Amino acid sequence: MNPDVVIVGSGPNALAGAVTMARAGLKVQVYERAATIGGGARTQELTLPGFRHDVCSAIHPMAVASPFFQKFGLDKRVEFITPELSYGQPLDGGRAGFAYRDLDRTVDGLGKDGAAWGRLMRPLVDNIADLVEFTGSSLINVPRHPVTTARFGLRVLEQGSPAWRFRFDGDIAPALLAGVNAHAIGRMPRLSSAGAGLMLGANAHAGGWPLPRGGSQAIIDAMAEDLIAHGGAIETGTEITSVAEFSGAKAVLLDVSARGLDRIVGDQLPDRYRKALRRFKFGDGVAKIDFALSGPVKWANPELDKAGTIHVGGTRAEVARSEDQVARGAHPSQPYVLVSQPSVFDDTRAPAGKHVLWAYAHVPHGSSVDMTEAITSQIERFAPGFRDLVLASSHRSAVEIEQYNPNYVGGDISSGAVTTWQLLKRPVVSLDPWRTPAKGIYLCSSATPPGTAVHGLCGWYAALSALKHEFGITQEPDLSPV
Ligand SMILES: Cc1cc2nc3c(=O)[nH]c(=O)nc-3n(C[C@H](O)[C@H](O)[C@H](O)COP(=O)(O)OP(=O)(O)OC[C@H]3O[C@@H](n4cnc5c(N)ncnc54)[C@H](O)[C@@H]3O)c2cc1C
Repeated sequence: MNPDVVIVGSGPNALAGAVTMARAGLKVQVYERAATIGGGARTQELTLPGFRHDVCSAIHPMAVASPFFQKFGLDKRVEFITPELSYGQPLDGGRAGFAYRDLDRTVDGLGKDGAAWGRLMRPLVDNIADLVEFTGSSLINVPRHPVTTARFGLRVLEQGSPAWRFRFDGDIAPALLAGVNAHAIGRMPRLSSAGAGLMLGANAHAGGWPLPRGGSQAIIDAMAEDLIAHGGAIETGTEITSVAEFSGAKAVLLDVSARGLDRIVGDQLPDRYRKALRRFKFGDGVAKIDFALSGPVKWANPELDKAGTIHVGGTRAEVARSEDQVARGAHPSQPYVLVSQPSVFDDTRAPAGKHVLWAYAHVPHGSSVDMTEAITSQIERFAPGFRDLVLASSHRSAVEIEQYNPNYVGGDISSGAVTTWQLLKRPVVSLDPWRTPAKGIYLCSSATPPGTAVHGLCGWYAALSALKHEFGITQEPDLSPV
């Protein structure tokens, strides 16, 4: 029997869409090109037996905050571990900044800049649900919480412009903030970096920055289990090159890049729309490395042992300089490196006494450079002796990341540059950007709002739009665990 709905891809957004459609009573078929499901949320043995590495995503504030995953009851299906220290920023000489889940503790730890940190973050933390609602959908909707939106907007204007230098007196708080702002790859200060940083930073003090026990794969497995329990089917090892073969299905949801949409749907899309897809820009990339270690990293500042995430890049000026180098097409010798140390909190990741370390550095779009040495020496700078712990490592350049998953064009993990304009135009300016002009064809990947991260929201919005327009179903299906 023909499925009602075909889903192309099996990343978190695809499976969010698939679960939503299956819960509405429809027959759903998922196709995934790779041998296993999960897209950017897979956990695999990349180095040595018994060392389980998150291939892409590792830390999941947006999954816990996501309205989709809250409806899905993700916290009842997957065990999340929330470190007391959300993220830290080491500086030379054993100094470091700490963003604890507890905002008051963070304020106390930042000394003379603590009060300014509190004034920046507290109004966002106190209104986190409103902030998540605003940033968690298309930004061209009229905001439902104008006061929180205005407070957020003013802070973004400050931290995304040269005015960022006026808030703090010391060097630790600015470095701490630069580390989180740099998640959105690109020059700093910049509005889109500040927006991403403040949203992630507020979540660090609200729900924290959790990691799933067992790795990101646990999130995927929970969704796949629900899909199958509701009649869905998944076929791996099948790359879809054209939607023409799915003429029997009333809706097709594509978890692909803007470029993939243009290629797979082709002539069914009007020229104007295809031109807009081709104008959609991809950003700079990442080079990822996974380490198997003989023991835990010994940070020069031992408080960093409590952090799930460490932003390794030095002062704000250093982070901004390395981001600028990448934007100019260079490979920094002292790059900004995002580090996660999951096995400190989760004993399922490595054999007893051993550890895994997850890290990536920003690199120019399409880079094939091996960043192993640059990343290793940046970590060594703040954790002397790190090199001696390394038992094995596995590196993927930006080009290899795209080969692994075609959605990450040129190694761009956001599947589309994170610029202010492309936060509004994702991939086109529309009140319903998930619905394409081709009948029954929907885009459900992070190329649509609200963009990158494991939150499932792109898939959920695409599914709700398809339910309404293709099946006349306007009631949200119940997603709660059975
Ligand atoms: C190195 C790295 C680190 C990251 N870290 C984090 C993090 O810590 N926290 C976080 O929240 N997010 C993180 N992200 C981002 C997050 O992984 C993505 O935003 C998220 O996975 C996007 O989900 P998606 O469903 O849109 O697409 P993806 O997860 O990219 O999945 C797309 C899937 O579709 C499949 N596919 C594509 N084309 C076809 C086709 N033609 N036929 C069949 N199948 C196809 C692909 O093989 C893939 O499995 C990271 C990403 C990377 C790469």
